Amino acid sequence: MERQTILIVEDEIEIGQLLSDYLTMEGYAVHIAQDGQEGIEAMERVHPDLVILDIMLPRISGIEVCQRIRQHSKIPIIMLSAKGEDSDKVIGLGIGADDYVSKPFSPSVLVARVKAHLRRYTTYHETTQDVLTFPGLHIDLSRHFVKVGEREVDLLPKEFQLLVCLAEHAGQVFSKEQLLDCVWGYTYCGDGNTVTVHIRRLREKVEEDSSNPKWIKTVWGVGYKFEDLKR
Ligand code: CA
Repeated sequence: MERQTILIVEDEIEIGQLLSDYLTMEGYAVHIAQDGQEGIEAMERVHPDLVILDIMLPRISGIEVCQRIRQHSKIPIIMLSAKGEDSDKVIGLGIGADDYVSKPFSPSVLVARVKAHLRRYTTYHETTQDVLTFPGLHIDLSRHFVKVGEREVDLLPKEFQLLVCLAEHAGQVFSKEQLLDCVWGYTYCGDGNTVTVHIRRLREKVEEDSSNPKWIKTVWGVGYKFEDLKR
């Protein structure tokens, strides 16, 4: 199998090198960029499979780098936040990062997250489509944008990912465990209730009648599926 490439964008040389050493030991090809501008340039040049992105960077901030990557790519992005930065706030920005690790962190924990995200990405995101279109429902993957009829729907990042996971595999039944894995990753310590709650919120936002859903169907005793009304 071809080696997967990881791009680290980090201006603190020691942290970048430490991460690089750990990831190289795990068999990944690693490229380090030392500021945001270099990071954006490296995206084009090394075509990484995953990006580890520090938030506080010289020239272009990690947040802006993340947004720029998301304009054309869905690869996993793990952000590094400095102590004191509220990761919830960063998540709330909805910039499309997949995960957050605050400094100081344990390199082996970060490596485990890298593996989990790569596995999740290659398992669930094999599609190369940028837009999923169903009659009356439009999901723009690169711009994180959903329209029901002519109405633009505001989804939180996890709601969006849940919808995408189901809609990319329309007709396929997912258990709650599979959806947890697809959307939250196995490092998340949630349970099936997390999925139930998000499915409910998602239905309230995208379904005309959330008690009688047209798209997101419950398959009793198994889980959920997205009904492909095209077929
Ligand atoms: Ca930094």
